[in-house]
This record gives sequence, structure tokens and C-alpha cells, in this order.
Amino acid sequence: MANQIILANRPQGEPTADTFKKEEVSLPELKEGEVHLTTKYFSVDPYMRGRMNDAKSYVPPFEVGKPISGGAIAEVVESKSESFQTGELVLGTLPWATEAVVKAEGLQKVKKEDVPDHYYLGILGMPGLTAYFGLMDIGKPKAGETVVVSGAAGAVGLVVGQIAKIQGCRVVGIAGSDEKIQMLKEQFGYDEGINYKTNKDLKAAVAAACPDGVDVYFDNVGGEVSDAVIMNLNFHARIPLCGQISLYNASGTPTGPRIQPMLLTRSVLMKGFIVRNYQDKFPEGIQQLSTWVKEDKLKFTETIIQGFERLPEAFLGLFTGKNQGKMIVEV
Ligand code: NAP
Repeated sequence: MANQIILANRPQGEPTADTFKKEEVSLPELKEGEVHLTTKYFSVDPYMRGRMNDAKSYVPPFEVGKPISGGAIAEVVESKSESFQTGELVLGTLPWATEAVVKAEGLQKVKKEDVPDHYYLGILGMPGLTAYFGLMDIGKPKAGETVVVSGAAGAVGLVVGQIAKIQGCRVVGIAGSDEKIQMLKEQFGYDEGINYKTNKDLKAAVAAACPDGVDVYFDNVGGEVSDAVIMNLNFHARIPLCGQISLYNASGTPTGPRIQPMLLTRSVLMKGFIVRNYQDKFPEGIQQLSTWVKEDKLKFTETIIQGFERLPEAFLGLFTGKNQGKMIVEV
């Protein structure tokens, strides 16, 4: 038997505890090419909100009545696959379940390095790679430039800011509490921070924090925060368009200032991307991130919630800023 958490209904606007339902299920018999896993760590990620809608996107929607799934690390309990042995740790997209029988295809072995296993859900996993490729390939930061990061104290943002510092940039982070701003400056080397929740005039706050204007804006949140940064862009600025979390729970069509004249007249490049676009370069990205971690140039932090049944609470916490760094659930 195993516990699993299903999508009980499709949320309209903000999801709530009622969006999810926990149930007990019996596991199917293990077949050839399959592994029986016990899950250890789950990643909860903002993109999962999009999968709760019945809408076309780059990943199919979750099905109502079926388990939610997401990035996870698990241990092999029993294997009918030549690729995996009992006791090995694997990384993959797994159902929100305490145990699962899944196809071995698509799972990766977790390499034993001198880092905690759950780093493969954070700095050496999807968020780290998102930060690396988005910033380096689209942002193309140059020494001396000013880089602004929104969602700066989250899983992706923390890595973006530090990579920008490694490239010799001045880095300004935007986040939702004074505690987070203090953490960015004191522990992660950010030069300046802006609390978007307490600052009444964000456009002026960005101008004050970036006296030479903004050359790269790594956009994790969208909405009014991004409107304020975009009004401070320099000529030939670049915007890696990574996430729009402030709009994920919006009902109706969000509107805002028309930014196209600004992009046009300042020759700005704004490019949306999905980390998967860089899949064939992941080994290069992991190699570089691991090297920086070993050299102590990249640091990381997580918010680890204990208990499988708290997966919904951890996920909902992303939308109210409950996490510093990567939000993880330890089963
Ligand atoms: P995260 O930053 O660890 O967690 C989300 C954070 O967003 C919260 O801690 C909260 O911090 C902030 N937030 C929530 N609601 C907000 C709002 N209305 N306005 C401004 N900030 C808000 O999440 P993550 O995994 O690093 O992801 C960050 C963004 O990147 C998300 O938009 C995600 O969808 C996107 N992403 C994209 C890709 C890709 O392939 N393109 C890959 C991974 C992630 P505060 O306390 O600062 O509000």
C-alpha cells in the first residue's frame, strides 16, 4: 500500500487545500522494465500551477482524480530493470506518492558527490540549469553591467544573482521581505535589494538601486515588478523571460503598461525560454554549476518541509513566499 495525493479539482484562481486529496492505494505488481521506488524528496515548483489548468502548454495538464507529479528523488526498493539496482537513488518525474511502481525509462541515477542528494532538485538540478542557461545564453552578462533579478531569493533567483556576480556584474535582487533582502546581501553577495511588498514606488526604487540603469533583467515574476524594472532598461538590454509567478493564479486577462515602445526604442531583446530547450547541453551546465559549488563560488539554501502529507502546503507556500531558496518536501 502507498499514500498518494491527487488533483481533486481544477482551481479557479488561487489553489487551496481542497484542490488536493490524499488517498491510499495498493501498488501494482512489478513488471519487466519497471522499478519499485520509495520516494525521499519532492520538489514543488511554480510551473505545477499551470498544469492544474486544462490548457495547452509545454507540458500536458494534470488529470483530475490522478496523482500530481513532479521532480523527485527516490530509492529503488526492487528492480526488474537492468539499469537499476536495489538501494540506488534515482531522479525523475514521479507521482506524489510515498511509493510507486514506474517504468525505469526516463529515470536518472543520482551521482554520489560531496553534496546533499536534494541538491539535484535545486542548484544542480532544474532550477540551477534554468538560472545558468537563461542568464548566460539570453542575458549574456558582461563585467561591469547591472543585472536585476526578480524572485531573487527563490530557487532560480539565488543562482542567477551569484552567477552574475561571478561574471563581474553589479547585482540587484527583488524579493518579498526584508529578511530575504538581508539574506541576499549578507549571504549571497547581492549588491542591493528591493522589497517589492513594502516599496510604494518600485520604478523609483529600481532607479535608485541601479544608478547606471539596467542591462539585464532576469524576469521570474512578471506583473508590476517587471513593469517597474522595464521602465529602467538601458539601450541593448536583455530580458531572459523565465517565469511570471505573479500571474499564475490570475483569472481573466492581466493587463499593464504597453511595454513594446520601450523595448523598441531601446533595442531591447526579450526572450522567453523553457529550460528543456537546453536539454542537450545539460551535462555542460551541471559540470559548470558543480565546479562553482566545489570552488565555493556558488552557495545555496533550501526550505525543507518534513512530511509527505505537507506537499500541498509546501506548494501553496510558493505563492506567498514561504520559501528561501529551493522549496523541498522530505517524505
Ligand atoms: P521560487 O522563486 O523558489 O518560489 C517562488 C517565489 O516567487 C516565492 O518564494 C515568492 O518570493 C515569489 N512570488 C510569489 N508570488 C509572487 C508575486 N505575486 N509577485 C512576486 N513574487 C512572487 O520558485 P523558482 O522555482 O525559483 O521559480 C521562479 C520562477 O521561475 C517562477 O515563475 C517559475 O515558474 C519560473 N521557472 C521557469 C523555468 C523555465 O524553464 N522557464 C524553470 C524553473 C522556474 P517572494 O517572497 O520574493 O515574493
